Amino acid sequence: MKTINDFNFKDQKALIRVDFNVPLNEQFQVTDANRIEAAKPTILKILKDGGKVILMSHLGRPKGVQDKYSLKHIVPMVSKVLGIQVKFIDDCIGEKVEKTVSELKNGEVLLLENLRFYAEEEDGDIQFAEKLSKLGDIYVNDAFGTAHRAHASTTIVAQFFPSKKCFGYLMASEIESIDKVLKNSEKPVLAILGGAKVSSKIGIIENILDKVDHIIIGGGMTFTFIKAMGGKIGNSLVEDDKLELALEIMEKAKSKNVKIHLPIDAIIADSFSNDANIRVEDVDNIPDGWMGLDVGPKTNVGFSFVIAQCKTILWNGPVGVFEMKNFAKGTIELGHAIAEATEDGAFSLVGGGDSVAAVKQFKFDKKVSYVSTGGGAMLEMLEGRVLPGIEAILN
Ligand code: AMP
Repeated sequence: MKTINDFNFKDQKALIRVDFNVPLNEQFQVTDANRIEAAKPTILKILKDGGKVILMSHLGRPKGVQDKYSLKHIVPMVSKVLGIQVKFIDDCIGEKVEKTVSELKNGEVLLLENLRFYAEEEDGDIQFAEKLSKLGDIYVNDAFGTAHRAHASTTIVAQFFPSKKCFGYLMASEIESIDKVLKNSEKPVLAILGGAKVSSKIGIIENILDKVDHIIIGGGMTFTFIKAMGGKIGNSLVEDDKLELALEIMEKAKSKNVKIHLPIDAIIADSFSNDANIRVEDVDNIPDGWMGLDVGPKTNVGFSFVIAQCKTILWNGPVGVFEMKNFAKGTIELGHAIAEATEDGAFSLVGGGDSVAAVKQFKFDKKVSYVSTGGGAMLEMLEGRVLPGIEAILN
């Protein structure tokens, strides 16, 4: 795997695809600079070598050129994070941009305008990619969040840098951490899958069945399994067209010696609300009019016991409706157990959408081994797919 450590960037123009798709408030100020922080080590290494940095990114989903999606809004924050004044140009291809790039001095950073102001970016247009390629000597991909898209700047552009292309530090650590779970994992390996629906996790379950020893299932998808096994789930979330599939997964797991751990009790509520009446009930004995919105205390103990035995832990999806205080306990306890296992030497990876929000909300992000920055990209890797943005660098 070629990373920026394999190059010396002295006098070189590094064309870096970053993911600066950051949230802005109504005054167009950046409200969360995590994605900019995440690209900082890569940018600093190139500047330290004595190179020039050309940053390209998308922001939002603009339809043509729209001022509110201009990357000019983020220049103050990028400058603040990097500790140097970043230059900006209001286009990302063409003569004017090429001229500005040619005048760039070593140690300087130029941010290009939103790539998605051109439809050619998302179309993966080869001519557009070629125009982008004129802006750099070495192509660096550090945009894990868009690595699952075969867009011009994330994938197609790489072919114009046959030997001068590499991963930035963020991409490299994302790939390494997933490999630590799926390829070079220390046993026993545990995957914790929560969230709302079985249907959105089925690709992951099928891929990891060959790679893990234990699977903990929580969250809304619990009830599809419980109903499939003949349990009473009241008004809990269920996918009736996935009952067969749930049984097939259980069978497959059994044949592969993978132990599936389902909740045994649940916090049930008489409405989908934090103000609902709540009580603890066996997970397969939920009365009509009630729904399971979190795992119960016995389940917490059981799940923590499994987690403590494992050396590699993947966590995707909350085990309850953690956005509501009364149904957050299971997810918090799970986070505690993972943090403790990590302290005892386990490798823990948290990724994919809502579980990242949960670890941040409950401040576990520093207590696990790695928190992935890419929702969709991470999910696709867990499904065993080769991401186009990664393949383009490896080829
Ligand atoms: P996902 O995007 O599939 O990871 O799903 C995350 C969502 O699942 C969160 O918004 C949770 O509130 C929701 N969720 C977790 N547990 C349950 C449950 N028991 N019933 C309904 N939704 C749930």
